[in-house]
Amino acid sequence: MLKIDVHTHILPRDIPKWKDSFGYGGFIGLDHYKPCCAKMVRDDGTQFRDVEENCWEAEKRIEECDESGVDIQVLSTVPVMFNYWAKPNDGAETARFLNDHIAEIVTKFPKRFVGLGTVPMQDTKLAVTELKRCKDIGLAGVQIGTNVNQLNLGEPQFFDIFAACQELGMAIFVHPWDMAGEKDMQKYWLPWLVGMPAEVSRDLFADLSGVLSGCPTCEYVLHTAGVHFPRPSDVSSTGLMSDPIFVRSIIYTVLGSI
Ligand SMILES: [Zn+2]
Repeated sequence: MLKIDVHTHILPRDIPKWKDSFGYGGFIGLDHYKPCCAKMVRDDGTQFRDVEENCWEAEKRIEECDESGVDIQVLSTVPVMFNYWAKPNDGAETARFLNDHIAEIVTKFPKRFVGLGTVPMQDTKLAVTELKRCKDIGLAGVQIGTNVNQLNLGEPQFFDIFAACQELGMAIFVHPWDMAGEKDMQKYWLPWLVGMPAEVSRDLFADLSGVLSGCPTCEYVLHTAGVHFPRPSDVSSTGLMSDPIFVRSIIYTVLGSI
């Protein structure tokens, strides 16, 4: 049986210092402080996460896939790179850079990787433009955050993006990020253990119900959806069934795989 891991993030080894070119900060880069290891660091010096070479080396990933019996990885950027908060044109530039990198790897290893792009959701027109470009460079879909600067994905301004995904046959992987309440629960990995599942519920019940009814043939994958989808059978049934919702792809991914 073909094994496909749909939830694997990747970064380019060298990320531009966007703070210098855009004139304001907040962007994440990689500090290669020793061989095979790097720190994801915001340009104000705040450390985000330690990563290893499998975060940027395609060959290392293939080696690890072979060890664990995975045939294909679906590549997407790390959600902290969405940059939805940035000025729209700058967000579009960072998206193009990240997408070109993923497309390069998919082109080089077409049997081992499938690519998902990122689009500047803060500007619908630019997002649709980049979405079309993603299709042209060989990506299979896009990864989007569960909210855009705390706006739910069901807001009318995002509809054209979902409609374009449907028209172009681009799949959508919805990934939690910028978790509501994150500042109030910094300890014990609570943003990931509590915030992320809450973000997915937010989309499943509040956002995607509206989107899916408008774009019924869109292909969606929801991060950790297996945790939340059973809820319609109990407490949430009334709220859910009041809206037509049809999730075409429900993928349960392990909470630790982030
Ligand atoms: Zn993830």
